[in-house]
Amino acid sequence: MNRTAIVTGAGRGIGAAIAQRLSGDGMAVALVDLDGAGARETAAAITGSGGRAIAVAADVTDEQQVADAVTQTAVELGSPTVLVNNAGILRDNLLFKMTLDDWDSVINVHLRGAFLMTRSVQSHMVEAKWGRVVNLSSISALGNRGQANYSAVKAGLQGFTKTLAIELGPFGVTANAIAPGFIATDMTRATAERMGMDFTDFCEAVAKETPVRRVGVPEDIANVASFLVSEGASFVSGQVLYVAGGPTV
Ligand code: NAP
Repeated sequence: MNRTAIVTGAGRGIGAAIAQRLSGDGMAVALVDLDGAGARETAAAITGSGGRAIAVAADVTDEQQVADAVTQTAVELGSPTVLVNNAGILRDNLLFKMTLDDWDSVINVHLRGAFLMTRSVQSHMVEAKWGRVVNLSSISALGNRGQANYSAVKAGLQGFTKTLAIELGPFGVTANAIAPGFIATDMTRATAERMGMDFTDFCEAVAKETPVRRVGVPEDIANVASFLVSEGASFVSGQVLYVAGGPTV
């Protein structure tokens, strides 16, 4: 079955790996990203190896840009029936130092962004009587020092996911969340820098505390996304799958 997927924040990191994996699964993929350059590079790699992909520069917090991105995808690749809400940012700080802008920016990209994207794509899914939504949560949803904003949105995305599963289930649409542990990407590299730590040392320290004794790589998350959007996962909905190299509390 030819499916069209939209992956947000697909210019690098986890989003780029998911886009590549879904293309490998036979889907056409729209790579939505703030800065089009990374998305263009990944889309070119996909088309270069025989897949179908487009890069779409859009800010997921902007209602009009989201609507335009979804329309462009439908016109160029076909009706999108798979959506991976992956775009994300960090603005870490202890609560007493957290600015209103730190709070609002994180709420907007993760929650407003996922809301706008899903609201825009759901009509295609409902019309097709088939759809898959995957939202990127995090182990930080369980609480993490310095991440009041981020843990709030990642917990919020879990509630959003469960509600989507309830509302859209009757139309053949499933919604699930992936909650990764530590994945080596630019995001975690920036965290190491902020803490004044060498990234390799940082990863080694995290690996020591992780039952499988390694940190995650973007492909670990892409593998799970691939399953959740597959035909065979049609009875899995409203779930939060922690992908963290060990159990979470
Ligand atoms: P990353 O390397 O920082 O990539 C994030 C991507 O999101 C970038 O391509 C960025 O675009 C894009 N983005 C940011 N704001 C956007 C906006 N307003 N509109 C469209 N795109 C936007 O992050 P990552 O580590 O791959 O993380 C991906 C997702 O997994 C995030 O939701 C993150 O919270 C979650 N996650 C990550 C980890 C981890 O350990 N890495 C753990 C748990 C959960 P630009 O390149 O243009 O800035």
